[in-house]
Amino acid sequence: MKAHDGMYIDGAWRPAAGSDTIEVLNPVDEQVVGRVPAGTAEDVDHAVRAARAALPAWAATPPTERAARLSALRDGLVARQDEIAETVTAELGSPLKFSQNVHAAVPIAVAGSYAELAATYAFEEKAGNSTVHLEPVGVVGAITPWNYPLHQIVAKVAPALAAGCTVVLKPAEDTPLVAQLFAEAVHEAGVPAGVFNLVTGLGPVAGQALAEHPDVDLVSFTGSTAVGRQIGATAGAAIKKVALELGGKSANVILPSADLAKAVNVGVANVMSNSGQTCSAWTRMLVHRDQYEEAVELAATAAAKYGDRIGPVVNAKQQARVRSYIDKGVAEGARLVAGGLESPREQGYFVSPTVFADVTPDMTIAQEEIFGPVLSILRYEDEEDALRIANGTVYGLAGAVWAGDQAEAVAFARRLETGQVDINGGRFNPLAPFGGYKQSGVGRELGTHGLSEYLQTKSLQF
Ligand code: NAD
Repeated sequence: MKAHDGMYIDGAWRPAAGSDTIEVLNPVDEQVVGRVPAGTAEDVDHAVRAARAALPAWAATPPTERAARLSALRDGLVARQDEIAETVTAELGSPLKFSQNVHAAVPIAVAGSYAELAATYAFEEKAGNSTVHLEPVGVVGAITPWNYPLHQIVAKVAPALAAGCTVVLKPAEDTPLVAQLFAEAVHEAGVPAGVFNLVTGLGPVAGQALAEHPDVDLVSFTGSTAVGRQIGATAGAAIKKVALELGGKSANVILPSADLAKAVNVGVANVMSNSGQTCSAWTRMLVHRDQYEEAVELAATAAAKYGDRIGPVVNAKQQARVRSYIDKGVAEGARLVAGGLESPREQGYFVSPTVFADVTPDMTIAQEEIFGPVLSILRYEDEEDALRIANGTVYGLAGAVWAGDQAEAVAFARRLETGQVDINGGRFNPLAPFGGYKQSGVGRELGTHGLSEYLQTKSLQF
């Protein structure tokens, strides 16, 4: 697999300040697929200076020209989609088809949406005797996770560039190769030097240096709630803008009037997709007590069919973490009806698609984010009980509601404390704002709401 041994800073691949490297492993066979430099505070500083120097000219570039660069970037991602899919499969371990259909295709849709928005968005408004200008926030420090490695990058970089901001990206250490491919595509799209910069490295070193850098105006972070809390505190102390996309423990609420088999099967597929490493996955399935045993049987059968086809989780640490939750589920009295501790393969970081029944709302597996292919099925008595259980975690990122009647599902969804709800299997929409209530985060990504995170207002009175 191709890997650069430098950092993409100020329009070129430049040697890293230090000599440490990060080994990238394929989670399927645990073999090294590449090595990238482990950036330090010095590299971050170098990149932030380049982004600061490039800011005035990029901020003053007409939105139509910024749109043209984004459109070229989208085309570059299209041209590289096979390489992108193969790279994500090599470093994340996801099945190639999923990498093609999701890891490569979704970022193309998102980049395209921002090319269009940059050209059409009203960066100026009238309010009484004032003209309000929507101006770029400035230099953005973007820190991204490994689970949807290119999507998370594009969901930050595309709106930032559309807004006229410049960016320093610190991607996840497990999946830096696709970030390097992205930097190549940015370069080829004719984005001016310094507007986008890439520093690979470890979170507590390069990530922390970026989050703490005094010349970064906005830190946009996606990852765990623990790190997000730390980044939010650092940004707060510096009176700096921050956007946080954090964890989730979303509920899939199946109301009694729903098509039970469909709701259960789609629900299981949702949790197993990307080996359960989806922050918005519906990891708690809520079923009425009269339909409970039928739903458990359907879910166990559906999960057993996946075997090792879902791919491994990203690394050994994540595999151990997911297994420790499976252990805890059993210890706290949940009933294991599919999967368990045994791995479907001897080699690689595989976890069996796992389903727990008789999960009660207070159990650890019903409260904490597992980030693996583990589904918990909870029983509810009536709608009020379902609502209480669904809203009864510190998170509020996503969810699903199923009912025979769409209006019934919508009425329930409106009472959920969460940022996104899919109604009767509603499809992913790259224009819909994505982000969390409660401890799932601060701010929104995608569409116009995602763009406005990178803008600040200036009002001129006449
Ligand atoms: P993580 O928080 O460990 O890492 C995320 C990123 O932060 C990585 O680039 C990492 O290098 C960096 N980082 C780590 N420590 C840092 C520090 N001290 N300072 C600055 N940066 C630091 O999370 P992860 O394990 O990579 O990802 C899994 C988590 O991310 C899950 O909890 C998941 O729910 C969450 N997630 C949320 C969303 C969302 O949109 N809400 C999307 C994907 C993942």
